Amino acid sequence: MSSTNKAPEKAKKSSLKDRGNLFEIAMQQVSKAADVIKLDPKVRNILAQPKNELIINFPVQMDDGSWKMFKGYRVQHNNMLGPYKGGMRYHHEANLDEMKALAAWMTYKSALHDIPFGGGKGGVKVASGELSMREKERLTRRFTHALGNNIGPEWDIPAPDVGTDGQVMVWMMDTYMNVAGYNDKNAVRRVVTGKTIISGGSHGRSEATGLGLVYCIEEWARDKKFNLDGCTFTVQGFGNVGSHLANLLTKRGAVMVGVGDHGGYIANPEGINPHKLLQYMAGKGTVAKYQGAAEITREQFFGLECDLFVPAALELEIGVDEANLLKCKLICEGANGPTYPEAEEILLKRGVDIIPDVLANSGGVVVSYYEWLQNKRSERWELEEVRGRLAKRMATTYQAVRQCALHRKVDMRTAVYCIALERLQQAYAERGIFP
Ligand code: NAD
Repeated sequence: MSSTNKAPEKAKKSSLKDRGNLFEIAMQQVSKAADVIKLDPKVRNILAQPKNELIINFPVQMDDGSWKMFKGYRVQHNNMLGPYKGGMRYHHEANLDEMKALAAWMTYKSALHDIPFGGGKGGVKVASGELSMREKERLTRRFTHALGNNIGPEWDIPAPDVGTDGQVMVWMMDTYMNVAGYNDKNAVRRVVTGKTIISGGSHGRSEATGLGLVYCIEEWARDKKFNLDGCTFTVQGFGNVGSHLANLLTKRGAVMVGVGDHGGYIANPEGINPHKLLQYMAGKGTVAKYQGAAEITREQFFGLECDLFVPAALELEIGVDEANLLKCKLICEGANGPTYPEAEEILLKRGVDIIPDVLANSGGVVVSYYEWLQNKRSERWELEEVRGRLAKRMATTYQAVRQCALHRKVDMRTAVYCIALERLQQAYAERGIFP
């Protein structure tokens, strides 16, 4: 559980392969909390590796008639508290260590909120933007079929992540339903969450991660007596998480002064309208060259004057250089694992608050749980009910983390893991190891 990562130079590079081992970084974070709570070494050893790591090579017919081989992953980290749960990512840099880290973070997210799920993650190594819709559908259905009983409504429940969305989840669900047998067909609808509404999704699921971030920011602002109305923020990544977050924060009076994605970065001190930017994005596929703002470099983006910064792109984007550039008061981590441990140290020393990923972006898994429950009970909850439940849960968990951080004199990230590890430890203590 030690990091071999060299953050300063590597954080600038765009390839994940150059960025150190994400799983080692995740374990380093967990290890710090395990020391604080004096975690039982047996439990520490169990959690140091995923339970199952599945790699599947499968063929897909492309639109030109050729067949191409793809590599798919499903990592099941832990199911002590409930079925494995976690996203499916389609990305050209997908790799096993990344999946292992993301799966572990899911275990801690569910345990932190005390929802009856474990942790898993998976996906396919593919540049999803280069696939036609038909190719994406064939790839999804073939991958789902190849996964077979390695996923299931009470065993392992996928959800959307980078490069996947509600449509991909519906293809997964439909493929799984079609081999389930007539009697079970509708009962297995909850094999995936994050579906479109008409196909069994929950109201409020697509905005849930962004909204969960906003609820955390509101709790922080309340504690700090900070007025969100009129404050400024920047966002890295303008996909599902980043765009919803930007919309919801803007509705609360905050002003987006900078944003960036894989295509480039833009800024406007007068504010960028997230709704108009989303319309522009729908045509161009990137925020770059949007007329309502000036083009800036990545370095300039990280150096922008703002109150809040929300990383909502990929992992390990905040290295030592970025930590020294950032001028914000708060970083609320929308992305999973955006910050190198070395960078976090610098930021905390500089007095920048960090709401860590496992807490900040957990709104998605919380509402996924609500979707799974609605499917299980054949219910449909109103949007306001989903939002109300999410608001209460995020606020309660945020305050529990804050209290733990104060009580144990640790940072928020360590406090998150302390709470989650204590729940997992208790479950292992009660159940023991079979046989
Ligand atoms: P998405 O695919 O909808 O969006 C990803 C965004 O990141 C896009 O705007 C893309 O252009 C940008 N991006 C990609 N590479 C980049 C680079 N090198 N530099 C700058 N920007 C880059 O994905 P999403 O669902 O919004 O997920 C974003 C992050 O949030 C991921 O870390 C994901 O694991 C995490 N997350 C997502 C959810 C969810 O419910 N979708 C839940 C929890 C955590």
